[in-house]
Amino acid sequence: MNQTESRSAKARANGAGDERFDVIIVGAGFAGMYMLHKTRQIGLSAIVLEKADGVGGTWYWNRYPGARCDVDSIQYSYSFDDDLQQEWEWSEFYATQPEILRYANHVADRYDLRKDIRLNCKVIAARFVEGGAGEGTGHWELEIEGGGTVSGTFCVMGTGCLSTPNEPKIEGLGDFKGEVYHTGHWPHEKVNFAGKRVGAIGTGSSAIQAIPEIATEAAHLTVFQRTPNYTIPAQNRPLDPKEYEEIKARYGELRAEAKKQPNGLIYDRSSRSALETSEEERRAEFERRWAIGGTNFIASFNDVMMNTEANEMAAEFVRGKIREIVKDPKTAEILTPHNIIGCKRLCVDTDYWTTYNRDNVDLVDVSKEPVERIVPEGVKAHGKVFEFDALVLATGFDAMTGTLLRMNIRGRDGLPLKDKWAEGPRNYLGLAVAGFPNMFTVTGPGSPSVLANMIPAIEQHVDWIADCLAYLTEKGVGEIEPVEEAESEWMEHVRVVGEASLRSHCDSWYVGANVPGKPRIFMPYIGSVPEYARRCNEAARKGYEGFRLA
Ligand code: NAP
Repeated sequence: MNQTESRSAKARANGAGDERFDVIIVGAGFAGMYMLHKTRQIGLSAIVLEKADGVGGTWYWNRYPGARCDVDSIQYSYSFDDDLQQEWEWSEFYATQPEILRYANHVADRYDLRKDIRLNCKVIAARFVEGGAGEGTGHWELEIEGGGTVSGTFCVMGTGCLSTPNEPKIEGLGDFKGEVYHTGHWPHEKVNFAGKRVGAIGTGSSAIQAIPEIATEAAHLTVFQRTPNYTIPAQNRPLDPKEYEEIKARYGELRAEAKKQPNGLIYDRSSRSALETSEEERRAEFERRWAIGGTNFIASFNDVMMNTEANEMAAEFVRGKIREIVKDPKTAEILTPHNIIGCKRLCVDTDYWTTYNRDNVDLVDVSKEPVERIVPEGVKAHGKVFEFDALVLATGFDAMTGTLLRMNIRGRDGLPLKDKWAEGPRNYLGLAVAGFPNMFTVTGPGSPSVLANMIPAIEQHVDWIADCLAYLTEKGVGEIEPVEEAESEWMEHVRVVGEASLRSHCDSWYVGANVPGKPRIFMPYIGSVPEYARRCNEAARKGYEGFRLA
């Protein structure tokens, strides 16, 4: 009997939970699937618990019209197996949601993951059970909606950063007699907007993708905008077979190069300062980037995200484009943002600004006077009722912490995660929380996560966790938990580097400002992907420095 078997067998003998595994993984998105694959490789038993009836995580839920990734598909994909990246064929530069979901399903089949993934299995509580006399070390017990518990020595949360939809706090939402859809929880069957009057609330990334598509189908679309947003055209295109072939020939090299980049992405990152560039050259560079398209625009100059004056130059260029494209000056004015570009996440669109030139699209500014309430016929704002057949809520997510906090997680001595994080998330390296032994978070707050290229960021975390589990197993260690001091130091570092970036200086979901009452804290780690990986590796190399092993 190996160490793994003996650990599980002991726990079963203790009657802990209905079923017992070495590792319980929550979520069958890109994090959960890769974690399962790695866990098998190190010889541990694992189960993935997934509330949906399919794999794919965020790409399972976000099926709204126009949903697409704005990181190029060549980079927004797994890199852990060269055979996989060589055999899979992306059709477009930016992949659509259905194509990414097909990819997720392909991965599940290719690595025979499904037999250890339990679908329609929602975790409603997770608690750490201290080790009894027979076992010595503790374990996790997860409660499943509808009954039953699953136990595991370790628990890995692959629950995503943007996985709990943010329902707007607008009175009367339940009173509306038409159809209501949230972009983050879209139906599986096609929603038919043909001939309908549609109202859309929100103008973030999801709305900016959905609005042009809905507008072409609906009889009429009214957009309620609280904060105008910056968006850059995607300039999406099919992948040129010759270009793709060349990329595949040096895929490994490109992946290695990406790991050295601040956001883990190969970007056309300028080393010039906007302030030290002539106006003519600056404009030419902004134009060049606008024509190429995508979030790369923000890297036009190296000071755009560090200096307000440089930022204003980039922002003013986009404002000029809005004034140029949107024909009605009043609509253009409402659509024009005046805040820091790139502070809220920069959006990428196809035909967003031109959509407001359509006769069947109206814009309502709810920045000064919010939506009053939802009524059975539609939306009441500015003292009048806008009548709709369907309402689209593109109101985002309770990002980064929302899903974990709703899961009723309790650590040592029954400590609720909700209490531990009452003033904002606290953890060590974005990976583990003091007081919650043997629990890991993949791309948790305090890690580069949403500021990085998500799939490689997931791979870096999962590799680290898997190496850690292998180490613990080899050494016969049953418990791992960050020490408070290491956690505090890490949180302080996350705060200090966050402060230095303009990104932390506005109201966005990065700081929890989109959810009323959420503590304001810049949640992701902005100190760069390579620096982050270096710190994680160093902790591991020093025998998991900053952690207490028992
Ligand atoms: P979001 O960026 O948080 O946008 C939500 C929108 O709803 C905002 O315009 C917000 O206004 C508005 N809103 C919220 N509550 C409201 C209320 N009560 N009344 C009026 N307006 C209200 O959410 P998202 O668009 O779903 O995007 C979230 C993140 O998901 C993105 O930033 C991105 O990271 C990811 N995403 C990526 C892609 C992609 O790869 N292309 C696509 C979609 C999403 P305020 O700004 O005033 O709060």
